[in-house]
Amino acid sequence: MKKRIETEVIHSGYSSDQHHGALAPPIYPTSTFVFPNAETGEQRFAGEEEGYIYSRLGNPTVKMLEDRIAVLEGGEKGLAFGSGMAAVSAVLLGLTKSDDHILCSQGVYGCTFGLLQMMEEKYRIEHDLISMTDPEVIEAHIQPNTKVLFIETPINPTMTLVDLEMIGKIAEKHNVTVVVDNTFSTPYLQRPLEFGCHIVIHSATKYIGGHGDVVAGLVVSDAETIKFLASTTQKDIGGIMSPFDAWLLLRGLKTLPIRMDRHCDNASYIFEKLKAHPMVESIAYPGDPQFRDYMIANKQMDRPGGLISFTLKGDKKDAQNFLNTMKMIKIAVSLGDAETLIQHPATMTHAVVGEEARAKMGISDTLVRLSIGLEAKEDIWADIEQGLKAYKNSDMTETV
Ligand SMILES: *Cc1c(COP(=O)(O)O)cnc(C)c1O
Repeated sequence: MKKRIETEVIHSGYSSDQHHGALAPPIYPTSTFVFPNAETGEQRFAGEEEGYIYSRLGNPTVKMLEDRIAVLEGGEKGLAFGSGMAAVSAVLLGLTKSDDHILCSQGVYGCTFGLLQMMEEKYRIEHDLISMTDPEVIEAHIQPNTKVLFIETPINPTMTLVDLEMIGKIAEKHNVTVVVDNTFSTPYLQRPLEFGCHIVIHSATKYIGGHGDVVAGLVVSDAETIKFLASTTQKDIGGIMSPFDAWLLLRGLKTLPIRMDRHCDNASYIFEKLKAHPMVESIAYPGDPQFRDYMIANKQMDRPGGLISFTLKGDKKDAQNFLNTMKMIKIAVSLGDAETLIQHPATMTHAVVGEEARAKMGISDTLVRLSIGLEAKEDIWADIEQGLKAYKNSDMTETV
């Protein structure tokens, strides 16, 4: 019987009776696996017998995590990587060849953008970056050689959403593979495969790990696609996950639902406070009924998540001053950790994008992004509030 996600994050993929009764999953830090005889080795290499060969091709601790994330996303199989970008590159390079085309949502993660550029320059795999709002515009950009629709939703840091059901329908009509970077939502809030998308990718570094202590990536899809990726771009490029990291993620996943609920509760409280504050100009938060993409959020996300971006009154220096006034909140990129983190996209995560492209994407010099943590919501707000009072009157960079 299918169990609820709160149960599956704890139990799926692991059975203690196969591991001497160990309640917590064991770590198998082994590079290779001993065959009982030569014939077994032959059969395993031929794929005629189940069993481990060498840890780049599969490891028991990593397999537990792959099985668990597959259940959570509602897919058949999972595949683990050493980083989110190892996962993204294995998927995109696996699905395409020279003269193919990738259609991608505008504003994707900076390194995904970099990868697409490299693929075009070095391997002649083309791409277009477009706003994925209007189905007619999307269809007009699908070419005979378009193999992949790559989307992120919500998109960092503008929190723009893409309608997964609409994308799933377009993809079916044109026979293209839809890849969704689901890092911001996690399977607790959004399961893209339910909407007809084909491959889900996570930077497990973020909410899935949840404690800021591991860099990792995950992919979920149907068995055939995962088998293909495992035996090509994962095996031969080799961006695999270590058993230790898999163990950290198995541990992190157990608390994903309670952590996400707390992130969401805190974010909703902070949003209300920001909305009422005179120094805040605009807010991007999928839980805001006035937010442009609120209806899409309502349709495909169970809750609005833990990220909020907002613009301050002032200029770039004022925004930097605001970051410098933080006492508890940490100035750092990344997201999904226990600690509330703040960053300035124009000079940090999106500095490489260039001023013109940033303006097109709606990333102004006064935009700041918060990854709301698990602290008491009153303490998070107290820090933000004192910063909003102080940032205009202080030039913190000169005093430190
Ligand atoms: C962080 C991130 C990535 C890259 O993941 P790494 O684990 O840092 O390699 C990809 N997509 C999104 C949306 C991210 O936030």
